[in-house]
Amino acid sequence: MNVNVKRVLITGGVGFLGSHLCERLLSQGHEVIALDNLSTGIRANVDDLLGHPSFRLIEQDVCTPLLIHVDEIYNFACPASPMRYQLEPTGTLKTSVLGAINVLDLASSTGAKVLQASTSEVYGDPQVHPQSEAYCGNVNPVGPRACYDEGKRCAETLFFDYHRQYGTRIKVVRIFNTYGPRMLRDDGRVVSNFVVQALRGHDITVYGEGAQTRSFCYVGDLIDALILAMKLPDDMTGPINIGNPSEISIKSLADRVIELTGSRSRLIYSDLPVDDPVRRCPDITLARTSMGWEPKVDLDSGLSRTIDYFEKILSGVAAA
Ligand code: UDP
Repeated sequence: MNVNVKRVLITGGVGFLGSHLCERLLSQGHEVIALDNLSTGIRANVDDLLGHPSFRLIEQDVCTPLLIHVDEIYNFACPASPMRYQLEPTGTLKTSVLGAINVLDLASSTGAKVLQASTSEVYGDPQVHPQSEAYCGNVNPVGPRACYDEGKRCAETLFFDYHRQYGTRIKVVRIFNTYGPRMLRDDGRVVSNFVVQALRGHDITVYGEGAQTRSFCYVGDLIDALILAMKLPDDMTGPINIGNPSEISIKSLADRVIELTGSRSRLIYSDLPVDDPVRRCPDITLARTSMGWEPKVDLDSGLSRTIDYFEKILSGVAAA
């Protein structure tokens, strides 16, 4: 076997980001095993990969100990939209914490490298702007978002403690808001909500006054960064922010979606959810300097590709 060909395990491999990662790694000639309990990932995301000779799907929960020999592990298994992760908060916490322990145990016993999909949510409602990796965050440990935020923070702690205690080869990346084809149409995230509402001519649901900001990264750019992060030398563990530093208010995002879809939907306003971060924008200096990475796809181009995807989904041309 070519030594450059890796055997790669992707937990959450059927989800939005996981499935794009599977596809990219297969296209680079690697052998890919997707492990997923299909709770938020949908099989349609990997339909095109199922016949590929180097692809395998294992239906299993990441909370169950893993026995499989691989070179690299990307740990993506976890519900990730606020609506979905709050649905069963204790399950979300278990997935983050037990999932991290299981992938770390596997990596420690086999020598595999393991990358944790952490999140900008570790910064909570940030008091420092933009957020650099040195910022320790402002998380409410007892609020409705804590199951995800604290779960992911605990997973980071586990990664660094395994690294210090056992020398486990780790990478931790903090992923900021990401969008693109294969987002679920009904998991409550802002880009999918707005695009689907606009295409259907329904009201666009802006929470609060829409003055809160986010910074949206197109999925293709994000996948580039993940693969580069995994290739960093062993002493470069992260955490590394990955995201698009171009910040936009939620109201402006709604306006962009209306313009790009040509929709006649109108905006309606309702209460801001509890603990909803007011501002979020990554400082990506470390990603730029360590990996030579920065996002290439601007918001309008990425939104147009996402709109094309949802047009197909809603017209029933594509599965999901
Ligand atoms: N949001 C909104 N309308 C929606 C869905 C979300 O105004 O239909 C807002 C939400 O309150 C938040 C931002 O959009 O301020 C991003 O929400 P999302 O759930 O996509 O992810 P978050 O960044 O909060 O994890």
